[in-house]
Formats: sequence, C-alpha cells, structure tokens
Amino acid sequence: MYILLMGPPGAGKGTQAERLIRDFQLPHISTGDMFRAAVKAGTAMGKEAKKYMDAGGLVPDEVTIGVVREGLAKPECSKDFMLDGFPRTLEQAIALDKIMADMGKKLDVVLNISVPDSELVGRVIGRRICKECGATYHTRFNAPKTEGKCDKCGGVLYQRDDDKEATVKNRLEAYHAQTEPLFDYYKKAGIYKEVDGLQDMDKVYGDVKNALGKA
Ligand code: ADP
Ligand code: ADP
Ligand code: ZN
Repeated sequence: MYILLMGPPGAGKGTQAERLIRDFQLPHISTGDMFRAAVKAGTAMGKEAKKYMDAGGLVPDEVTIGVVREGLAKPECSKDFMLDGFPRTLEQAIALDKIMADMGKKLDVVLNISVPDSELVGRVIGRRICKECGATYHTRFNAPKTEGKCDKCGGVLYQRDDDKEATVKNRLEAYHAQTEPLFDYYKKAGIYKEVDGLQDMDKVYGDVKNALGKA
C-alpha cells in the first residue's frame, strides 16, 4: 500500500506514523526527518534546507523532490511506503505522481489529519523528541514518565529549533497557502480521506486504521 499522511504542523502525522510502523512495519519517509538528518550531518543540502526551516518556510521544490526521489528508490520501499510531510506543494504532488508512475506505482490513499490552527500552536510548542530514537512526546498531552527522558530508550528529549511560537505562525501560513490546495488535487483523483485529529491519540489511530482499511 502507498499512503500519504497530510496535515498541518503539529497535527499528529509523526505520532500516527510511529504507531503504523509499530503495527504494520510500513517504511516511513518523512521529508522533515530527512532534512533534520542532513542538518545534523552538516551536508551542503542540510545547510541549504536549514535556512528555510528556521524561517518556517518551505525548502525549495527541486531540493525536496530530489530527496524524495532518492528515498523512494530504496529497495525497502518497493512494496509499501508511507510518506509524511511530502508533498507540500502542487509541484511536489505532480512530481510524486511522475516518480511513482515511472516505477509503475500509484498512491492508494491520501489521509489528512485535520486539526484547527487554534490547537496546533500548543501542540507544536510542547513537542519534545528523543535524540536517540526519534520518539515524539508532548510536555502535557503525552508526557514521558521521567521529565526530559525517553520512556523507550532513556535518551534525552529535545525541542526542535523550529518549534517556537514565532516560527509556527509562518509554518501555518505556508500550510494554508501552499499545501491545502492539494486536497482538491487528491479529491479529484478520488483518493482523499480525512480524520478528525482533535480527538485523543488512540481515537485518532482507530480512525486512521479504519480509513486505511487496516482495522
Ligand atoms: P511538521 O512535523 O511540524 O509538519 P516537518 O518535520 O514535516 O514539520 O517539517 C519541518 C520543516 O522541514 C518544514 O517547516 C519545512 O521547512 C521543511 N520541509 C519538510 N517537508 C517539506 C516539503 N515537502 N517541502 C518543503 N519543505 C519541507
Ligand atoms: P506532526 O508530525 O503532524 O507535526 P506530531 O505527531 O509530532 O505532529 O505531534 C505534534 C505534537 O502534538 C507532539 O508533541 C505530539 O505528542 C502531540 N500530539 C499528537 N497527536 C495528538 C493528539 N491527538 N492530541 C494531543 N496531542 C497530540
Ligand atoms: Zn528514545
């Protein structure tokens, strides 16, 4: 199955992806994670991407599309994959269709985790991530047992550079202006589905599995 997870920053894409990986071993391609890895490794692409990420804007399409093209060519993505945070522009969506068509593949479901802006700022600002294993927590909604420490591996939790109030506003603006128009694109293709992301994480996961036919 070829799945796309969509939703604004803080909607819960990564949280739901974590559960889908745990239960169904779906290969996960997150452009945000790939950019953060490149920043950490100090590559030229990472340095370029960081400028846009820190400002809460989108990394240019030609960079982003190149990264995804490489990711999808990996053998582990041949049977299934779940894209998270890509595409975010119409140009990226068209490029993805082309990349997949060249591989003889087609997206099965586009799942939008819908959450209003008023809720997102608090979610993003409270987000904490494990340095070691990448698990996601929230200071209030999903607090670790010991403050600042990962329940799963004991790793140190950190806050992303771009998870600050000043940046979130720009990210939401970019989402509304550049990413939301994709809903129509996927509705026309007949593969668009939506779940209510305002519910608690377990309820959202139930709806996600239902929408993916995995319940
Ligand atoms: P969130 O989980 O909050 O939605 P991500 O981790 O997906 O954020 O993305 C972090 C940042 O990485 C974005 O704000 C943007 O700068 C960059 N980025 C991620 N995916 C894309 C994409 N498909 N196109 C352009 N920029 C991207
Ligand atoms: P995204 O990948 O879409 O940017 P995340 O999965 O990282 O979003 O979630 C953003 C923050 O909100 C995290 O701190 C996460 O623990 C928390 N969160 C995720 N889903 C929910 C939910 N349904 N209710 C409350 N908080 C949530
Ligand atoms: Zn961890």
